[in-house]
Amino acid sequence: MSVTQQLLTLKNTLPESVTLIAVSKTKPKALILEAYETGHRDFGENKVQELTSKFEQLPKDIKWHMIGHLQRNKVKYIVPFVHIIHSVDSKRLLDEIQKQAKNVNKRVAVLLQVHIAKEATKFGLDQEELEDVLKLKEHYTHITFKGLMGMATFTEDSEAIRSEFSFVKTLYDKHLGSWEKDPILSIGMSSDYQIAIDCGSNMIRIGSAIFGHR
Ligand SMILES: *Cc1c(COP(=O)(O)O)cnc(C)c1O
Repeated sequence: MSVTQQLLTLKNTLPESVTLIAVSKTKPKALILEAYETGHRDFGENKVQELTSKFEQLPKDIKWHMIGHLQRNKVKYIVPFVHIIHSVDSKRLLDEIQKQAKNVNKRVAVLLQVHIAKEATKFGLDQEELEDVLKLKEHYTHITFKGLMGMATFTEDSEAIRSEFSFVKTLYDKHLGSWEKDPILSIGMSSDYQIAIDCGSNMIRIGSAIFGHR
């Protein structure tokens, strides 16, 4: 199936409450434009250089989501245009986003990434770190806290995935009062988005199921 067909077929199956991010990392501009022509506007990238170069070359009404691990020295390149940063995994990164957002006189929307997977290689805050950061929320005058993001363990064991997603949903609900309007729970990728939606996801990040294997 073409990108257009995959995207439209997938969208047809999603509940209205779920926003689809088309993860276009490693994919050429032509394929992004094909998805754009269907009316789709939310795209996700995981590398700063690729994100900024695609931003420069593609239509300006695209909403760009930064979904990959973000180094502090690169924050300044994306703050001026990024729609949401999904992958905030430390207080030091928040401090840098606050500083750069202030510089350009903008409020930046972020999700706090929670470490839910078994793999040590995946990034994210643990529960205690999350709660410490949220205590300082008022200090971040140029950051809008929209909710949480999580990545489940890469496994065939759907019950294990379900329990990880349920854990992040519990944290999301516990701190519902911290999220600004239209809060976001960003969980679910090509292989596990149905479980994520069952667990309360309202934003899924889908790459290979739209654009094919990388
Ligand atoms: C690549 C990536 C995705 C999409 O993965 P697929 O399995 O291709 O759907 C989602 N979230 C993050 C953080 C990613 O890096």
